[in-house]
Amino acid sequence: MSININNLTKRFGGFAAVDGIDLDIHSGELMALLGPSGSGKTTLLRMIGGLDFADEGTLLIEGEDATIAEPHARRVGFVFQHYALFRHMSVFENVAFGLRVSRRRPKISEAEIRTRVMNLLELVQLAPLSDRYPNQLSGGQRQRVALARALATEPRVLLLDEPFGALDAKVRKELRRWLRDIHKGMGVTTVFVTHDQEEALELADRVAILNKGRIEQVGTPAEVYDNPASAFVCDFLGGGT
Ligand code: ADP
Repeated sequence: MSININNLTKRFGGFAAVDGIDLDIHSGELMALLGPSGSGKTTLLRMIGGLDFADEGTLLIEGEDATIAEPHARRVGFVFQHYALFRHMSVFENVAFGLRVSRRRPKISEAEIRTRVMNLLELVQLAPLSDRYPNQLSGGQRQRVALARALATEPRVLLLDEPFGALDAKVRKELRRWLRDIHKGMGVTTVFVTHDQEEALELADRVAILNKGRIEQVGTPAEVYDNPASAFVCDFLGGGT
């Protein structure tokens, strides 16, 4: 699903955390929102997902005005840095949750829920752990559950906020590969927030560089890193040589 953002603005008090952003995200692409801390990445992601409302501007998902829709109506899946799993639910029930509370009619049968959940757990290679509880899993495994849960309701858009930020380097690398493979297989439009330039370079089809609530540059990793137009990328390249 394509996302078209026009002049999107979000203020907290008098301060514009997102300040008149224009951005088109193509159907099926993997887009990174990259920038220093406080540049407005999370706020923009939350507005795409319907967790924050815009003060100004328009946000279209597949041509429909999304600024008024609730998250469930937008059909977005979220993955947060700190997993946000339900502690008292098994891995299976965490992934099934979205299907059980779905407002879709007719309701999904229990047999279908089981099939779908187990297929997703196969995808993230956690099927043998379906009866475990989150506190019995490693950080990387928890984030794989969170990914399966986000995908369970067949979202039109997958949104990830610093999804690997809490994990160590080895697991982070592994999960990047998961995300890339899953994205390739499913083709779901995906937007992820990161301040990690290597991560954006490795994962994204295109990168949007944010600074102080505005977009400084948008392009493929090659475009952005061959002709950097932001201090953020220049500093990174300067530091790397
Ligand atoms: P990033 O994700 O790039 O680190 P954020 O979108 O989280 O940036 O924040 C952008 C700016 O908006 C920051 O200065 C932050 O302090 C401010 N901000 C974010 N959320 C709120 C809020 N709920 N209330 C007040 N200020 C906020």
